[in-house]
Amino acid sequence: TNENTDLGFTNDNYWLHFKVKNTTDDEVNYFLESSRPIIDLAYFYQVKENGKIYIQKSGDKLKFKDRTFQNRKTIFKLFLKPNETGNYYLHLKSDGEVINAPVILKSSENFIVESNFEQIVFGFFYGMLIIASILYFFFFFAMREKVFLYYSLYVLFIGLLQFSLDGYFYEFLTPNAGWLSNKSVLLFAIISGFFLGSYTQIYLNVKEISARINIAFKTLYICFVALFFVIIFIPQWFKYCYPIMNGLGLYLLILIIASLIETYNKTKQIYQFFTLGILSLITGFVLFILKNFSLLPYNFFTENSSKLGTGVEVIFLSLSMASLIKKLKEDGESSQVIALQRSEEMNELKSYFLSNISHELRTPLNTISNFIDAINNETDIESIKEKCSIIKGSSNSLLSSVNDILDFSKIEKEEIKLEPIEFDCHKLFEEINKNISIRAKSKGIDFQFTQSSNISKIMFGDEDRLRQVIMNILSNALKFTNDGNVKFKIESTDLKDDNVELKFTVSDTGVGISKHKMSTVFESFSQQTINNKRKFGGLGLGLYIVKSLVDLFKGNINIESVENVGTVCMVTIPLVKIKSNETQIPKDESIFDLGGKKILVVEDNAMNQMVIKMITKKWLNTSVDYAMNGQEGLDCLKSNRYDIILMDLQMPVMDGYEATIAIRNGNCGINVKSIPIIAVTADVMETTKQKVIEIGMNKYLSKPVNKESLFENIKALVNLTA
Ligand code: ADP
Repeated sequence: TNENTDLGFTNDNYWLHFKVKNTTDDEVNYFLESSRPIIDLAYFYQVKENGKIYIQKSGDKLKFKDRTFQNRKTIFKLFLKPNETGNYYLHLKSDGEVINAPVILKSSENFIVESNFEQIVFGFFYGMLIIASILYFFFFFAMREKVFLYYSLYVLFIGLLQFSLDGYFYEFLTPNAGWLSNKSVLLFAIISGFFLGSYTQIYLNVKEISARINIAFKTLYICFVALFFVIIFIPQWFKYCYPIMNGLGLYLLILIIASLIETYNKTKQIYQFFTLGILSLITGFVLFILKNFSLLPYNFFTENSSKLGTGVEVIFLSLSMASLIKKLKEDGESSQVIALQRSEEMNELKSYFLSNISHELRTPLNTISNFIDAINNETDIESIKEKCSIIKGSSNSLLSSVNDILDFSKIEKEEIKLEPIEFDCHKLFEEINKNISIRAKSKGIDFQFTQSSNISKIMFGDEDRLRQVIMNILSNALKFTNDGNVKFKIESTDLKDDNVELKFTVSDTGVGISKHKMSTVFESFSQQTINNKRKFGGLGLGLYIVKSLVDLFKGNINIESVENVGTVCMVTIPLVKIKSNETQIPKDESIFDLGGKKILVVEDNAMNQMVIKMITKKWLNTSVDYAMNGQEGLDCLKSNRYDIILMDLQMPVMDGYEATIAIRNGNCGINVKSIPIIAVTADVMETTKQKVIEIGMNKYLSKPVNKESLFENIKALVNLTA
């Protein structure tokens, strides 16, 4: 009576009996379509008047090639002569799935047009699913977020489910029928349901939103597993599986809707694409069910409404995933910003720490060093002199380690700069020679120093950094040589104009460097082996600093070494020579005469005050006053007249910066506003050096102060002539 006959979930046998009358005067060739592609058995009988019976077979219990008409759908041919009435029987049987038994006649033309249209729509549908599945699988690979994997697998399995429902899975993948062909619809439905649920749980953060719904999801998965088990192991219950799976599908949709509502209640957030996606899926299925109950007309759209719903759902869910990617990207960026801020803070902390440590370590070292000099000068007792020299040596090596760490941090921050001056290089080399000779002698090593006769006396360059480079290499040679000799050779080559190139060669007969180690000697914190570290000590920063300095000089360094034979290190450094008559290097450095000038020392540390006292007490025509902090310094300036100030930086009450700014602002009177100020500090950070000059100090000297350089700087600033 009705073309949409829905027989419900059943494994009964159904027989339809109908007649078709050809009322035309022509022969007709029709196609008869009945039931869904996944029907197990569909036999079509024509009973002729003479009692003959013709049979056509379809259904997916048959091998595909045994179908009378080989099509994925349940289709039979129907031929009628003019005015003939055909008498037909249709036998349908399923294994528990819904049987739908329409009887639809199609002309050949209709059939072809419809097939073409289907091909376009289905091609689009399956193509889209494949692309979405692959695309989100790639996203999973790139981002390692499980939500992408679940979504990708959901799309894959919902696609396979539709593929089975449409009869394609049977036609192309299991054409010999059999177990998988019969179970594919249910298996794919369970798997896709599981992935849709898992994807929803993560996407909507169900675990956090509602513990109850989360448990409900888990119960659903247990049911899925049980159903899976029944399908595989209890075939006699199979007929119940279809209605149960449909029920579980409905339960899953209810859980998703409940999660959406709960999410909205808790967070006031509407996942619009996700919601639209789920709504499309539901709409598709509702239309499909209404059609099954004959409440909607049978046509291409109602027949395929679940597929259309799924297609639109995948589009919306893909959009929801796109906004998830956007969110993840934004989260990533903001965590990067935080990480960057943290690392900047850490860096600032590191600078602060280094500057502090330099202050804390260098100040007492300064005191020790100067006191030892003083004791050494004041005593004639040989045993005390010997101890002084040991203490001096130890404090020097400690100072050099502190300096290495500071230099390292400056190099890392790209703060290190050369400060070229005119200097007497003969004197420098002699000093180095003396120093190393003593150390070599005490280690029982033969030290040989040679220099070519063409080396100019006065050069222009950074004397301190040059000394540092040479001393570092020589110290290494001494350190890594236990017996034999260390040779130090200096050669000079004249270049264009006044440029010269000095070549220093240091060779030793020490432990040498292995080939493997050679590639890393210029890296920071390099030590040959753990054993080496114990045997020789050292931070492993020396050559790293040397290399950086040589690069600054635009020079070259090269090391050749044979293990257990020795090492040769060659350094070339370009400098500028100064013709000796152009320069005035103080000839007699032993006389320090300030010609009646008055110095104000602003320094809170009593030890440091004593160091300055010791240095200046031998100066002629010099008077020195002391202030304990910036405030006292300002008071002194108001009541007395001074020619120069030596200013410490870190002090209680008022620090050196504040005091300097007050003086430069004229707080102590217009006359003292431009008094020369030298910062004398243990803080050797480049930023500190810049800062003191920025606020108007004239010069920066680092502790421990060298008495010659202190005198020369004071003298230069108070405008004295030699
Ligand atoms: P440190 O001397 O503090 O370990 P350096 O950066 O000065 O650090 O040297 C790095 C490494 O290079 C040393 O640990 C040592 O293994 C190797 N090295 C440097 N100079 C010599 C040398 N003259 N003889 C043998 N090994 C050397």
